[in-house]
Amino acid sequence: MSETSTKVACPTCGKAVIWNKDSTWRPFCSERCKLIDLGAWADESNRIEGEELPTQVESNDEFYNNH
Ligand SMILES: [Zn+2]
Repeated sequence: MSETSTKVACPTCGKAVIWNKDSTWRPFCSERCKLIDLGAWADESNRIEGEELPTQVESNDEFYNNH
């Protein structure tokens, strides 16, 4: 047996999590902590993406009408 059990701290709640292939939610301790972290991240990126709306379809239509 050469396997060692690596422990990490859950980024959401700080609980010790054993890092191996059976730890489904690593580095989080549970699905709940993973979703909390991903939700906070997605919320931030959505706010930035929402500022820009592509208008390419509209200008392409104009281009073809003028020809
Ligand atoms: Zn946790």
